[in-house]
Amino acid sequence: MKIAGLPEVYLGTKKNTMAIKTIIEPFRIKMVEPIRMSSEEERIEYLEMAHYNPFLLKSENVIIDLLTDSGTSAMSAKQWGGVMEGDESYAGSRSWMKMEDEIREQTGCEFILPTHQGRAGERILYGHLGGPGKVFISNTHFDTTRANIEFSGSTAFDIPIDEGKKPSVEHPFKGNMDVDKLEELITQHKPLNIGAVILTVTNNSGGGQPVSMANARDVAEICKKYEILFVLDSCRIAENAYFIKHREEGFENHTYKDIAKEMYRLTDGAVMSLKKDGLVNMGGFIALKDPELAEACKNLLIITEGFATYGGLSGRDMEAIAQGLKEVFRPDYLKYRIKSTGFLGDNLHKMGVPIMRPTGGHAVYIDAKAFYSHLPVNQYPGQALVLDLYRKGGIRAVEIGSVMFGKYDENGNLIPSPMELVRLAMPRRVYTQSHVEYILEVFQELINEKDKTKGVKIVKEPKFLRHFTSHFEIIE
Ligand SMILES: *Cc1c(COP(=O)(O)O)cnc(C)c1O
Repeated sequence: MKIAGLPEVYLGTKKNTMAIKTIIEPFRIKMVEPIRMSSEEERIEYLEMAHYNPFLLKSENVIIDLLTDSGTSAMSAKQWGGVMEGDESYAGSRSWMKMEDEIREQTGCEFILPTHQGRAGERILYGHLGGPGKVFISNTHFDTTRANIEFSGSTAFDIPIDEGKKPSVEHPFKGNMDVDKLEELITQHKPLNIGAVILTVTNNSGGGQPVSMANARDVAEICKKYEILFVLDSCRIAENAYFIKHREEGFENHTYKDIAKEMYRLTDGAVMSLKKDGLVNMGGFIALKDPELAEACKNLLIITEGFATYGGLSGRDMEAIAQGLKEVFRPDYLKYRIKSTGFLGDNLHKMGVPIMRPTGGHAVYIDAKAFYSHLPVNQYPGQALVLDLYRKGGIRAVEIGSVMFGKYDENGNLIPSPMELVRLAMPRRVYTQSHVEYILEVFQELINEKDKTKGVKIVKEPKFLRHFTSHFEIIE
């Protein structure tokens, strides 16, 4: 089937003047994981068995899994080779030294602490800096970041720029922090009470919208002026560097790694989940410049994560991390990565599917309220779209709307989330162009049958984080 609006070539850029514009996946596939195909009839049954909640589906019954980009990357032959060479010594492992060297070189921080994933680092650092009465300020706190801060008794404020809150507005750096609000909040709460200012790059909510170097510089300057700790949440720093090189003046001739280094240089440290731009399935780190803060974190690390030279990771994990952190900055990889997410987003946009604009680095967000405009928010249009994507194409996505964030008033009526979104998150190096074309075809089918889609209701829900385990029914 030919899809209306699809370009003749894959991912061509305007600047490219060569005759061949197709950007190919910059890898050959040497080991394959078969996808089990299923029919629509089978999937209707699987959905019923999963109580219409995609989190309750078996992954083997999913054809294309876009639930998350976290920990779902494919590793390279060199990373797998490293797995065999992992040094599993309890202390002073060779694999740890490779990982530490790479992170130290990139972050410019002297003190590097390994953790088993991002949130373990967050709990240690923000648990130590936080506590009742403390305030944290970010462009947007990722949900585990917010949870760890609030769990310590502190308050977390999100201050993205106004453009970042409007789905259809085009802006090159929608992930930026509102620096006027930052100064206001600091003076209002007093510098002494600010636990840290956290810049999340790219900004996860909204599909990985980038933060400019100019914005990072402004934030750094304000933090310096008030003597406040400035921390980078650097989960997707390589993807962010791609956007800076191609969108911000003065960085055209910098390497991606140098751009990342420059951003780290502005900060007092970083926390990273390596399940994103580490190109591995598990891992994280804390990087710090201040020896006293590093010492305090190291002591906490040893209590709950493990000794300071492995922090909950095995030697083979650390080998794969050291290599993944190098590969993620390769120009061919980053170009393929950002362009392939853009290929999905831009084509959905051309087909008339309402999405958050412009496409970010790791995911495409669909505005389900606009797509299924015949469904009221208390019939969960986002969940209806997630179910349609699975039924029609075996594609697993996640609702980020009133199922995830909705609350009830005292009469039991839904207080909806401001937006009803569906996220298609792209695993790294896992799917190819034809997988993406298949997703576009499935959307074309959904567009054709749009008005037939029925709403859903929640028939069973837990008290917290209801999206993971709730049961749903279709409203007939
Ligand atoms: C994933 C993520 C985290 C948490 O990392 P985990 O490895 O899932 O614990 C923190 N911040 C951002 C921006 C993330 O995307």
